Amino acid sequence: VTSQDRHQVVVIGTGFGGLFATKGLRREPVAVTIIGRTPYHLFQPLLYQVSTGILSVGEVAPTVREVLRRQRNAEALVGNVTAIDLIERTVTSRAAGLITVTHYDTLIAAAGAGQSYFGNDDFADFAPGMKSIDDALRLRARIFGAFELAELEVDESERRSRLTFVIIGGGPTGVEMSGQLAELSRHSLNNNFRTIDPTSSRVVLVEAGATLLASYGPKLSAHTKRALERSGVDVRLNTAVVGVDADGVDLRLTDGSTDRILAKTKVWAAGVTASSLGGLLAAQSPAKVNRSGQVLVESDCTLPGHPEVFVIGDLMALDGLPGLAQVAIQSGEFAAAQIARRLQGKRVRAGFRYRDKGQLATIARFKAIGIVGPFKLSGTPAWLLWLGVHLIYLVGFRNRVTVIAHWAVTFVSGARSERTAPSDEFYQD
Ligand SMILES: Cc1cc2nc3c(=O)[nH]c(=O)nc-3n(C[C@H](O)[C@H](O)[C@H](O)COP(=O)(O)OP(=O)(O)OC[C@H]3O[C@@H](n4cnc5c(N)ncnc54)[C@H](O)[C@@H]3O)c2cc1C
Repeated sequence: VTSQDRHQVVVIGTGFGGLFATKGLRREPVAVTIIGRTPYHLFQPLLYQVSTGILSVGEVAPTVREVLRRQRNAEALVGNVTAIDLIERTVTSRAAGLITVTHYDTLIAAAGAGQSYFGNDDFADFAPGMKSIDDALRLRARIFGAFELAELEVDESERRSRLTFVIIGGGPTGVEMSGQLAELSRHSLNNNFRTIDPTSSRVVLVEAGATLLASYGPKLSAHTKRALERSGVDVRLNTAVVGVDADGVDLRLTDGSTDRILAKTKVWAAGVTASSLGGLLAAQSPAKVNRSGQVLVESDCTLPGHPEVFVIGDLMALDGLPGLAQVAIQSGEFAAAQIARRLQGKRVRAGFRYRDKGQLATIARFKAIGIVGPFKLSGTPAWLLWLGVHLIYLVGFRNRVTVIAHWAVTFVSGARSERTAPSDEFYQD
């Protein structure tokens, strides 16, 4: 079979879903084209460590063509997919004005989700989200820049606002980010400054609901709140952010009262919305999208009316499965296995079954929480498990080695070695 005659699989997205689907096809008689908006695979769960100076960009974002260099039946193309034609079976992608049209026999749509500001897109300039490398570097510049400018500031209230960090959203990203910021200001910046005292920084975590990490249950949520508060984080529950501008955030509490926090640095960790490709698929098929823009798929992750199209990971809505890396990985592997079974003439599985491997979130150095099967963990055991799991799922051997080195530096001495960031928006007039 020449590569022209081979069954053509096109994968959209180089996240967990797309990458694991592609790898799952490595031994099959197919030709896979994986198309991603960026040429790298992004390990989103560790992005907050990039923005707080622990890890380097390359460690969480290895290049896809390097990852797939030994997989001869796969090619990687960079491009933003702008059109999918379900009748002609083509995908159109664009990169810097170069337009590529790729034919498929089977399509795997794994375009994931982006940040949602719940209709307040003007918040984005003042409170970057945490979805991309660009976001993480912008935040890194703002966080370390805030300390630099506070050192120069002569006005006391301005200085205080430069040393105030507001994190919006009490899910795993908001919790991890606020824990890291507290640690950065309490320990890592020791002796770095001559005028300011970084330990006087204020880290505020704002959550509209009544608990942090709602999916972990009341006990672990309460544990997380206490642990963060002990680290110095000011946790505000039942508090909605109703305004964000250059100088601070406006809050509304459930009793109707309002408040304002003056803070130069804000981080948005509050909401996600699925890629617009979901709507594009639904418009050409009997499929529907839910309020988050996810495609309601058949039980075998295919698009209704189109068994040749799989929709996986954060882009799919199936049985209320959460937006977790494991869901994306397992649905990607499932799609690959289904394609293999079809080509071999074997019976395909009737439906995708998710094996819940649990969930983990770090609060600070040596502190994490997790649910693994019937067990609820907290403290150092959960943190050690978190460490192991992240090392296993990091892509690339070299990355694992350097990540271990960076973690050793940070966890043992508290220091951060990756503080460099684009400085143009900070230090120039
Ligand atoms: C900050 C953060 C922390 C997280 N922490 C955890 C955690 O601790 N544990 C956990 O299990 N999960 C966590 N998640 C969720 C997890 O990362 C996602 O569930 C997972 O990445 C989903 O994988 P995916 O492949 O569906 O989508 P993604 O990983 O989002 O990948 C989508 C890919 O599609 C590409 N793409 C999008 N649109 C287009 C287009 N039009 N054309 C071409 N390419 C396109 C994107 O560039 C991206 O490469 C976290 C997410 C974030 C943002």
